Amino acid sequence: MNPVALGIPTVAIPRTVRQAGPGLPAPCGAAPAPTGGGLVDSYGRQARDLRISLTDRCNLRCTYCMPAEGLDWMPGDDLLSDDELVALIEVAVRRLGIQEIRFTGGEPLLRKGIVDLIRRVGELSPRPEMSLTTNGIGFAPRAADFVAAGLDRINISLDSLDPDTFLRLTRRPRLADVLKSLSAAVDAGLAPVKINAVLMRGVNDHEAPDLLRFSLDHGYQLRFIEQMPLDAGHSWTRDRMVTAADIERILAEQFTLTPNAGARLGAPAELFDVDGGPATVGIIASVTRPFCGDCDRTRLTADGQVRTCLFSRNETDLRALLRRGAGDEQIADAWRTATWGKLPGHAINDPSFLQPDRPMSAIGG
Ligand code: SAM
Ligand code: SF4
Repeated sequence: MNPVALGIPTVAIPRTVRQAGPGLPAPCGAAPAPTGGGLVDSYGRQARDLRISLTDRCNLRCTYCMPAEGLDWMPGDDLLSDDELVALIEVAVRRLGIQEIRFTGGEPLLRKGIVDLIRRVGELSPRPEMSLTTNGIGFAPRAADFVAAGLDRINISLDSLDPDTFLRLTRRPRLADVLKSLSAAVDAGLAPVKINAVLMRGVNDHEAPDLLRFSLDHGYQLRFIEQMPLDAGHSWTRDRMVTAADIERILAEQFTLTPNAGARLGAPAELFDVDGGPATVGIIASVTRPFCGDCDRTRLTADGQVRTCLFSRNETDLRALLRRGAGDEQIADAWRTATWGKLPGHAINDPSFLQPDRPMSAIGG
């Protein structure tokens, strides 16, 4: 269905040639988006995993994500209210087949009322799985509240165990808070507790084995994420990034890594057994080994824009529809239409690649 005919505001920027993910079938030509059903794209993928950014603000300033001075934050009126968020999530789970919701940001813990929001989403039927990606700051004292509200899983970002390196990377001296949150998550019964780590050449790449040893000792599941061109300063360069191959090589100096057969199952992390298992380490090689062909994600920004990919260069404005009084089925149709137009891949490796205007913190990582 034509978005304009539906009255859906879209921001369209000319598409670059996109690289197809592995194993993708040919697109269904110019066939219109199906009405009814789930979030299916023209390459046959179905989105079941919704990533929601609750705010673009943050209390850290990770160098690969945000400039030291922060960004021009979204004005409060632009943000979806809790009621609007719940209304859109309800459409997603009841009409569009979304099974998993990940709350992220910016820093989602800065969103006032997040615990209550999680409780409300947990009361929906069918109930989606709920997880949180956070820098952990301020989580420890509230861990039990999150679990009582229905949070199922957590990923806490930790790039360094050295206070000076942590400060250099995040520009804030908050390592101790993050470590406290990791143990509070375990104590509150969240399992598995995952750690996300981004390695920067010459800054913390030498810490990869220490991060893995620390994770093994505490029972955390560590996943390294390749640095992507999503920083606000547009300073990412291919030759400076630490690749999945680099990470494997650095870890192999101290551990034996064996690909964990069959573990990927559509998940972005490639899993490796460490020293024969059962412990594993994950590598999310979004740049050097893209997994777009298996992508099952859709994204909603804090100001109510659907993005079918982190690297999308167009968005669909569900907030405008909602505030104009559109019904659930009209909103669902707008989301389906956006999904139908999802491109086969992110094209980071294509010479015509253009970094999206919004940085990671404003999209939701
Ligand atoms: N503030 C929360 C946090 O840091 O976990 C949630 C939002 S953050 C954007 C989500 C994840 O994206 C974090 O694990 C962070 O390290 C990662 N990230 C941010 N910028 C990135 C980039 N340019 N490339 C790869 N990962 C990035
Ligand atoms: Fe904040 Fe997360 Fe970005 Fe770091 S990665 S600046 S914690 S949003």
